[in-house]
Amino acid sequence: MSAIEVFADTLGNYLEPDQVNLVRRAYFYAEQAHDGQTRRSGEPYVTHPLAVANILADMHMDHQSLMAAMLHDVIEDTGIPKDALVEQFGDTVAELVDGVSKLTQMTFESKAEAQAENFQKMALAMARDIRVILVKLADRLHNMRTLGALAPEKRRRIAKETLEIYAPIANRLGMHSLSTEFEDLGFKAMYPMRSMLIDRAVRNARGNRKELLNRILESLQACLEREGLQGKVMGREKHLYGIYQKMRGKKKSFNEIMDVYAFRIIVDKPDTCYRVLGAVHSLYKPFPGRFKDYIAIPKANGYQSLHTTLFGMHGVPIEIQIRTDEMEELANNGIAAHWVYKSKDEVINGNHARTRQWLKSVLELQQNAGNSLEFIENVKIDLFPDEVYIFTPKGRIMELPKGSTPVDFAYAVHTDIGNSCIACRVNRRLAPLSEPLESGETVEIITAPGARPNPAWLSFVITGKARSNIRHFLKHQRHSESIALGERLLDKVLASFGTQLSDIPEARIQAVLTDCQMELMEDLLADIGLGNRMAYVVARRLLAAEGASEEEDTQKISPDSNTDNSEKPLAIRGTEGLVVSFARCCNPIPGDPIVGYLSSGKGMVIHQENCRNLADNRHNSEKTLHLTWDKDVSGEFTVELRVELEHQRGIIAQLATGITVADASIDKISVDERDGRVSVVQLVVRVRDRLHLSQLIKRIRNLKGVMRITRLKN
Ligand code: MN
Repeated sequence: MSAIEVFADTLGNYLEPDQVNLVRRAYFYAEQAHDGQTRRSGEPYVTHPLAVANILADMHMDHQSLMAAMLHDVIEDTGIPKDALVEQFGDTVAELVDGVSKLTQMTFESKAEAQAENFQKMALAMARDIRVILVKLADRLHNMRTLGALAPEKRRRIAKETLEIYAPIANRLGMHSLSTEFEDLGFKAMYPMRSMLIDRAVRNARGNRKELLNRILESLQACLEREGLQGKVMGREKHLYGIYQKMRGKKKSFNEIMDVYAFRIIVDKPDTCYRVLGAVHSLYKPFPGRFKDYIAIPKANGYQSLHTTLFGMHGVPIEIQIRTDEMEELANNGIAAHWVYKSKDEVINGNHARTRQWLKSVLELQQNAGNSLEFIENVKIDLFPDEVYIFTPKGRIMELPKGSTPVDFAYAVHTDIGNSCIACRVNRRLAPLSEPLESGETVEIITAPGARPNPAWLSFVITGKARSNIRHFLKHQRHSESIALGERLLDKVLASFGTQLSDIPEARIQAVLTDCQMELMEDLLADIGLGNRMAYVVARRLLAAEGASEEEDTQKISPDSNTDNSEKPLAIRGTEGLVVSFARCCNPIPGDPIVGYLSSGKGMVIHQENCRNLADNRHNSEKTLHLTWDKDVSGEFTVELRVELEHQRGIIAQLATGITVADASIDKISVDERDGRVSVVQLVVRVRDRLHLSQLIKRIRNLKGVMRITRLKN
């Protein structure tokens, strides 16, 4: 018997003979139209539409859907016009075929803009006749099943599209069997290695699980029997992509996921579901808070079932789903299940109405949305809850992972925008750069020439692009800043020997570099700047006579104390960047006597000369060096102040105003009430230098109610 006759035979189970004949006719029409065409695998082309019709027949779809499946590639691939199909098979089937062809022509590109249009078309097609989508999904399923014949790159593109577009749509339509198969096939094609490893691990685990699985199964069956309840108990396995997503998303280990034993109990009517629930709850203790009643409150896609988790023997978690045959059919085939009931003239049940409702709301959204950009936002929230869609000021849509911040957005637009971003407006209002964005917001990034990424951004960005770009920039910046500092430190020591780097013979420099196992002078300078090497030691080596040993060096060469340069300490400009930082214990500001402490890998930390934290290291002269402030020092510096004041209304506000008027900014303010009368205020403020600080202190002291003000040093 030919393939079509075998197929026609199975259709006889649920279709009328004249309907089966129409399907057969559509097959022969397609066979002729595709005559001479083959699939990549070498088979005649018509095997593909036949397989698509088979998938739909498994879902018991009506004869018109099956005819459209047979003909779905005719318009697209053979040039036969739609009119010809109208003549042969009538308007409905021709419309279905036309709808599928239009969907086929859309390729979903990564660009969100292009997707908006496509989504709209898709939804329009859905609203006109949902069967277009079902035929298209079956078409995609067969293509996914036979993906192996394609070139790797095309394979990946189709797999990505399947995971991003078709699997969620199938899920949204309640077609669980289809969406899990899409996911597993897509996963296998996108990540062959990962899929294979998980598959192998599942196979291995299956052997170990088998005995316990059977024991639980038997005890559940025995429990139903004791209670006189009819029900089919079956073990349930998680699909590969589901396991992968749990491992990635919820950061669970493979064993944690496999340690859960899952079962489904299928019964005759809803009432029995609850009685079975009672029975299993008395068999094993339920996990508190894990029971879900999707029978009373179905999911948005019409899914109904009871879910519960039990503590099994030895405490193993047992997940149980309890549902009727009808609910099971709906859970697997979703919207496609409705055609069966419809053809049997049954009453439209609640699920059907709900799915209709969903389709209707999609259509309404589409009509209300003035443009496609607005539309995509609404539909995609529904389909892809893990992503946010952000508008640029010009109306472009950027797709970002959920939790993305304006900095992630800035880097998604362009690396240069990210690197030079200083602030942002969300929906035209200034907003923090760290705030997670929500779908539909319009984000404008404010940049400034010469601005740089802030290391603190790394604590809140979530996209790989932002993270790697910030890291890259900082690493680069740190490197060039350490070179600059290293050069200054080395120059200073060389000056104390009465010489400078440019006077050292190239051969000598090369010898020292070889000694240090380095290729470039820059790397050696960077190492000095980072505090990994002492400038003094490097200088001595550079000055040593060729071939001289270390000990001899020390005796022969000592700093020339007569030179002016040796007395001149290094001057701090405040613009050294990441390799120079100011100690938080003593908060030095320009004007304070300071010393620098070189800390391996961190560069130089500047302390006040009399800082207590430095007491141990002060005599470690190699690591500590005397510094001055450059006369052109720039920037703002943090100081801590302690103010005692008489408690009276509005005094804190006056204090804050006084600081602002003195042109200083407040970083932190905390009030500690001593007794009813006196309060102690701790302030962290930023000032330019000591002169600025003394003006500030004078102003605060003059405020009415202020009793004492002191600068805090650890
Ligand atoms: Mn096709």
